[in-house]
Amino acid sequence: MINTRTASNIQSDMDWLHRIPKAELHLHLEGAIPLDTLWELIIKYGGDKSVPDQASLKSRLTYSNFPAFIEAWVWKNNFIRAYDDFLFIAEAIAKDLVRQNIIYAEVFFSPSRFTENTPMTTAGIAEAIRAGLNKVSECEIWLVPDLVRDHGPDNASRTLDEIAELKSFGIVGIGAGGSEHLYPPEPFSRVYEKARRLGFKTSIHAGEAAGAESVRGAVEFLRVDRIGHATRAEEDPELLDLLFETGTALELCPLSNIATGSIDDIMNHPVRRYFNKGLDISINTDDPGMFHNSMAEEYALLIHKFDFKRSEIKKLILNAVQSSWRPDKIGPSLIEKFTNNNNWA
Ligand SMILES: [Zn+2]
Repeated sequence: MINTRTASNIQSDMDWLHRIPKAELHLHLEGAIPLDTLWELIIKYGGDKSVPDQASLKSRLTYSNFPAFIEAWVWKNNFIRAYDDFLFIAEAIAKDLVRQNIIYAEVFFSPSRFTENTPMTTAGIAEAIRAGLNKVSECEIWLVPDLVRDHGPDNASRTLDEIAELKSFGIVGIGAGGSEHLYPPEPFSRVYEKARRLGFKTSIHAGEAAGAESVRGAVEFLRVDRIGHATRAEEDPELLDLLFETGTALELCPLSNIATGSIDDIMNHPVRRYFNKGLDISINTDDPGMFHNSMAEEYALLIHKFDFKRSEIKKLILNAVQSSWRPDKIGPSLIEKFTNNNNWA
């Protein structure tokens, strides 16, 4: 039985976590679609027999393992067919970020998953997303195209050439998600080198599905600024030292790791160990439209399962701000915007 004092503390934590300013660095546009927005798209395209009503959508987006998650990811993308859909999704996601008091975000989108199956172009998709984001002013959002490792280095290089012309839509870096086991980082080293020359920051998913070797490959061959997940990096203790020495920022997504089964038990998650070692970690939701998680719930988990203090939560949020890719010329400084916020008390 929950005693009332504990329940009251939990509510107090949730109130605080809701109102403080937050930042999100690892969020996929196509995985962040609010359920009511996705439902509107499904209806727009004639419905789907696997979801007879809106209430069944949440269970359709529940998984017992990583392949089941990927199946659902591909299924859901079938309802994004036109530029207007991207605009519609982007506006809904920006509003959802504002509702959570997330005031800064960097958002992945995966154009090549759509340019191969529809007449849409990378430029058109980026323009539509930016138009949707611009309808909401309270959250500052930058874009990070996902080069999608499953399409190989040549395709990634072509996508990179396209996005090099699209910086005016607020593109600040590149990422690469997809099948870590089948597509390790090393063959992408020239693509990442070229991205750096073009002035982009770099990230890659590693150590989520594949082991520590994928994280080492990302650091040594791609020389990335940030790594998505890296939960399995601790399988190689010397690699943790390397991450510390290089200052590589890690975008952790604890509730995502549970939802996909990539971590079997939340108590095995390395978040506390990484924090205590002084690694540069941030906390993120990854695909909240598919995992039904919020940023406040991510931090609540850290408080209640890993005994994080509020001062440590604030440090995690400021970590995210400091490892953000916001261009320097933009003012006033982002860190001041966060630290001067009145809602920390
Ligand atoms: Zn991700």
